[in-house]
Amino acid sequence: MMESGKFGKYGGVFVPELIIPALEELEEAFLKYKDDEKFNTELQYYLKEFAGRPTSLYYAKNLSEKLGCKIYLKREDMLHTGAHKINNTIGQGLLAKYMGKTRLIAETGAGQHGIATAVVGANFKIPTVDVYMGSEDVERQKLNVFRMEISGAKVIPVHSGSKTLKDAINEAFRDWITNIQTTHYLIGTTMGPHPYPSMVKHFQSVIGREAREQILEKEGALPDAAIACVGGGSNAMGLFSGFVDDNEVDLIGVEGGGEGIETNKTGATLCKGTEGILHGSLSYVLQNQDGQIREASSVSAGLDYPGVGPEHAYLHTSGRANYVAVTNEEALRGFELLSRYEGIIPALESSHAVAYAEKYAKMPENKGKTIIVNLSGRGDKDMFIVAKEMGREL
Ligand SMILES: *Cc1c(COP(=O)(O)O)cnc(C)c1O
Repeated sequence: MMESGKFGKYGGVFVPELIIPALEELEEAFLKYKDDEKFNTELQYYLKEFAGRPTSLYYAKNLSEKLGCKIYLKREDMLHTGAHKINNTIGQGLLAKYMGKTRLIAETGAGQHGIATAVVGANFKIPTVDVYMGSEDVERQKLNVFRMEISGAKVIPVHSGSKTLKDAINEAFRDWITNIQTTHYLIGTTMGPHPYPSMVKHFQSVIGREAREQILEKEGALPDAAIACVGGGSNAMGLFSGFVDDNEVDLIGVEGGGEGIETNKTGATLCKGTEGILHGSLSYVLQNQDGQIREASSVSAGLDYPGVGPEHAYLHTSGRANYVAVTNEEALRGFELLSRYEGIIPALESSHAVAYAEKYAKMPENKGKTIIVNLSGRGDKDMFIVAKEMGREL
């Protein structure tokens, strides 16, 4: 029997009946192995030796001086494949192996999760890795498509709907229904039906666990704020999980504001959306009055999703965390700020968190506070986009 998988009223299992047995099998395996000694020894081994954990909690001295706060960066950008996504793909990849699955499927937007899945599939010798990707995204992200193929994955273009991430997710679910015996669907963020939001959070909680230990060691105290960008919500949930029980720590999720939340070109699901069901769970959704999903928009592909993980909807409505939106323009400023002041080039997603950290630090009441910013990924992948935004050609 499945646990409810609810966060307050959010979450749940809103899927066609045909998928239920697969979700039950997955939940059972997850509950069995998450506390299993052999599984965890192996998980720790890959997180350390393959991905490069622990990541440092870096004191950003120059930025701190400039802003009059103590700013620490959790350096998930230093991980293999360039972002936090590998924490989850290693975890679920290993789980799939323990379950005896011979095939992984995944959805990907810009390709980051697809790559993190492909390298794990190669390393774990999982015979087949098929990645669903909207055909628009396949066109826009040729380099990442090639990266996946080099690692042995097959990229399947999805031509339905808006030909982007949400359609890729639909196709992946459709595939899973017909191949449940052999296949694990490796979802890339804290969304989807139970047990995905809890499971992905579990595999990303290493971020918060490390950050908590590191800040206590460096400062002898908890931070005043923990700030992370929110697409589907996995890097934020990973960081927040280390501090959610410490009410004195402000948890701040930064959404992709796009061209502004007053426009329709935004990815800020919690700031702008309403309650609804998307991809198997009740959460917040960008939708029109008839419940049709609206297209999200953000300069950073990772924040360009019209849904958000259900636990964030819970933290939002319960008031435990605050969600704010940062525009494309502000994010680009954050990108430049960190590159110039610290010599660290952040992913555009992470640049949203950096940009909000600057705003937060400049509020008079926050002077001198200690802030942890989750640097979810590095900016190499975004160079062409940033150059274009700056009016430069590469
Ligand atoms: C995918 C991605 C995100 C957004 O995903 P979450 O699940 O919200 O963390 C953020 N940052 C980077 C670098 C990403 O690749």
